Amino acid sequence: MSEKVLIIAEVRDDKLRNVTYESIAAARKISPDGELVGVICSHKDTSNLAEEMIHYGADRVILMENDKLKTYSSEAYTQAILHAINEESPNSIIMGHTSIGKDLSPKLASKLDSGLISDAIDVEVAGENVVFTRPIYSGKAFEKKIITNGLLFATIRPNNIRALDKDASRNGEVSKKEVEIADLRTVIKDVIQKTSEGVDLSEAKVIVAGGRGVKSAEGFEPLYELAQVLGGAVGASRAACDAGYCDYSLQIGQTGKVVTPDLYIACGISGAIQHLAGMSNSKVIVAINKDPEATIFQIADYGIVGDLFEILPQLTEELKKV
Ligand code: FAD
Repeated sequence: MSEKVLIIAEVRDDKLRNVTYESIAAARKISPDGELVGVICSHKDTSNLAEEMIHYGADRVILMENDKLKTYSSEAYTQAILHAINEESPNSIIMGHTSIGKDLSPKLASKLDSGLISDAIDVEVAGENVVFTRPIYSGKAFEKKIITNGLLFATIRPNNIRALDKDASRNGEVSKKEVEIADLRTVIKDVIQKTSEGVDLSEAKVIVAGGRGVKSAEGFEPLYELAQVLGGAVGASRAACDAGYCDYSLQIGQTGKVVTPDLYIACGISGAIQHLAGMSNSKVIVAINKDPEATIFQIADYGIVGDLFEILPQLTEELKKV
């Protein structure tokens, strides 16, 4: 059974992303009595984030510091994390299945000559095995996977494994390491942030998504209003992005983001298979569409047949009263 688990943290805008806390919870499931060691890569002191990780269940945190870790690059992060892995010799490694996790994990796995289970939505210990569950065929089926020998390395999909409760009384060691990073072949000069302010789409508990039926950029206004009342984020189908109604960073689906919110409200979205690939594992799906035959109703838990421009403002008004 796995003993020491390394959890690779993900930081955005000086905060830990939720998937980091979820990764700690996954690590604890794998190793109920083992040591959970967090790793944070940064160009500056992130002791405050290390404390957060400890409050959410990590036993110890290592801060890998170097100026080259200011913005994410797979080259620099791979080097820093490999240092941590070589020093710690963990039995398992867990990280988020985010854009960064998807980029970093295969690279690390190949350097470590290990297997990798990606995009797991659950993990459990069954006898001698640690069994990961992951969706396949665009979420139509699930497979159970184990790594039979060597390092147990997995990425977990955000919003599926519940984080442990925060316990601010937990203490743990935080160590800093000025890590050496060789010259990089690619240097990030600037990051142009396109995503809107507010709730991060891939970690949002509520998503209000619009499709071609929204008809224009202005047509998205009622979706933003509803999302704001629900404390959620706005997403879109590819057709809406292609039509220029919103930025591609909002696209959900096979070639966009994969999301698993508690509530997904699809507005003016027909339910093409490529869109469903990104949202069909949402816990509750509400579809608003004026076509009663729209495919989206086949997977929706609640369907509203009607014009989204009439329904959304009413919904928003009612929810404001709650
Ligand atoms: P439509 O299919 O045109 O549906 C619009 C819906 O709005 C209709 O059902 C209509 O009844 C309804 N409607 C219209 N007016 C109103 C109104 N006033 N009130 C209520 N309802 C209204 N798509 C994605 O979304 N994500 C992806 O990642 C993605 N990747 C793709 C990858 C590949 C390789 C390919 C080939 C396609 C991909 N697509 C993707 C495109 C996908 O096939 C569909 O074309 C797209 O999802 C359709 O978007 P839509 O549902 O918004 O538009």
